[in-house]
Amino acid sequence: MLHYLEAREKVVSAVSARGVRPTTEAVPLESSLDRVLAEEVVADRDYPPFDRSTRDGFAVRAADLVQVPVTLKCLGEVKAGEAYPGTVGAGDCLQIMTGAPVPAGADAVAMIEHTEPKAGQVVVKRRVETGANVVPRGSEARQGIPLLAAGTRIGYAEVSLLGQVGKARVQVYRRPRVAVLSTGDEVVPVEARPGPSQIRNSNSYSIAAQVALRGGEPVLLGNARDDLADLKRLVRRGLEEDLLVLSGGVSMGKYDLVEVVLRQLGAEFFFDAVAIRPGRPAVFGSCQSKFVFGLPGNPVSTMVTFTLFVAPAIALLGGAAPPPLQFFKARLAEPVKQTAQLTLFLPACLEGENADVAVRALPWQGSGDVVALARSNCFLVVPPNVTELAAGSWVDVLPRQL
Ligand code: AMP
Ligand code: MG
Repeated sequence: MLHYLEAREKVVSAVSARGVRPTTEAVPLESSLDRVLAEEVVADRDYPPFDRSTRDGFAVRAADLVQVPVTLKCLGEVKAGEAYPGTVGAGDCLQIMTGAPVPAGADAVAMIEHTEPKAGQVVVKRRVETGANVVPRGSEARQGIPLLAAGTRIGYAEVSLLGQVGKARVQVYRRPRVAVLSTGDEVVPVEARPGPSQIRNSNSYSIAAQVALRGGEPVLLGNARDDLADLKRLVRRGLEEDLLVLSGGVSMGKYDLVEVVLRQLGAEFFFDAVAIRPGRPAVFGSCQSKFVFGLPGNPVSTMVTFTLFVAPAIALLGGAAPPPLQFFKARLAEPVKQTAQLTLFLPACLEGENADVAVRALPWQGSGDVVALARSNCFLVVPPNVTELAAGSWVDVLPRQL
C-alpha cells in the first residue's frame, strides 16, 4: 500500500502535469487576504525612498562626535513628511523625528536620550557610528526589483507590502470551484431530526470549511444515496466544477459505489488506498478531465485525508504552490502504545506555553470520533511499525489548523 507521502506526490504530479492556469480577476486590496497573487509585484521606487531616521534625535556628522560630550549648533528641525533644504555642516546638527529624511551632510542620528539642549545649541553626550539610526535609501529594496512572485498566497505581510507599493487593486487567480458531495443512505441534512439509525451530514460542511481555508470555493451538492443512478447523476453534476470531492462509499462494503460509478464514467485512478489510519480507503482519480477525490466517510478520516491529499490539489488548481507538509517536534507528555503497519494520525493536544510545550494523544474511539477531534489542536504522527513511544521522547506533530 502507498505511503502517504507517495500518495501526496501522485496528487501533486498529476495536477501539476495537467498545467491548469486559472483565470485572473482584480480585487480591492482590502479583499485580497488569502487570495493567490496572479502578477509579479515590483518595487515602484526605492525602499526606503530616502535615508530614513529611525529615531527621534539629532542628525549629525559622526566625525564631529569623536570627542564627547560635544556642543553642536542646531540649525532647526525636520519632521516626517518634510525635507530639510539645507546642509548639515561641520559642527552643526538638525533636530529630526522618526521617519524623517536625514538631511544632506549628516550621516547619523544621535538619539534624543543622549543629548541635552543648551541655549540654541545641543550637547551630544555619546558617540555614534556613521550610519547609526539611519536606514539608507534603497537598502530594503531597489526600484524595479521583484518583491512578490505570481503564485504567492497573500497574508497580512503581503497585504502591507502591496499597500506600500500602491496596489489599491490586486490581480489574483480565480478561486477553484470545488464540488462537495457526500454519500450514504444513512445521511440526512443537518437541519433534519435523524431517525435512530441515521446521522447528520457533517462531512459536507467540514469539507466546505477545509476548501474555504485552502482558498477554494465550495459548491455544496448535498448527499447522494447509495444507488448507482442517484450517485451517477450527482457525480456528473460535480464534474462540471474544477474539482470534485466525495465523502463515503469508498470502502469494501456492498453499498460502497463511488469507485464503481466513477469507473462507469470513465475514471482512471492514481490510488485507491493509502497506508494511513484514519483514512486508508482514500481514492484519487481523474474523470472526464476533472480530478476527483473519494474520501472515506468517517469524519476524522475525511478531514485527515483532505489535509494530506486534497489541500495540495486545491492550491495547484488555484495557481499556488502546494503548501509544504511541515511537522513540528514536540515532547510526548504520556507514553503511546500502538501497533500498526500504517502511519497513524492521532488527535492530540499541544499543551503548555512558550518553550514549555508537550503533546498528549487524546483518548478517542477511532475515525468517527469528531468529539475527540474537536478537543484536539494537532495530530500526533506515528510512523508505521512503531510499537511504543516513551513519555518525554520527541515526536512528530502536524498542527491541525493547517
Ligand atoms: P462509508 O465511508 O460510506 O463507509 O462511511 C463510514 C462512516 O462514516 C459511517 O459510519 C457513516 O455513517 C459516516 N459518514 C458517512 N458520510 C457521512 C457524512 N456525510 N457526515 C458524517 N458522517 C458520515
Ligand atoms: Mg457509506
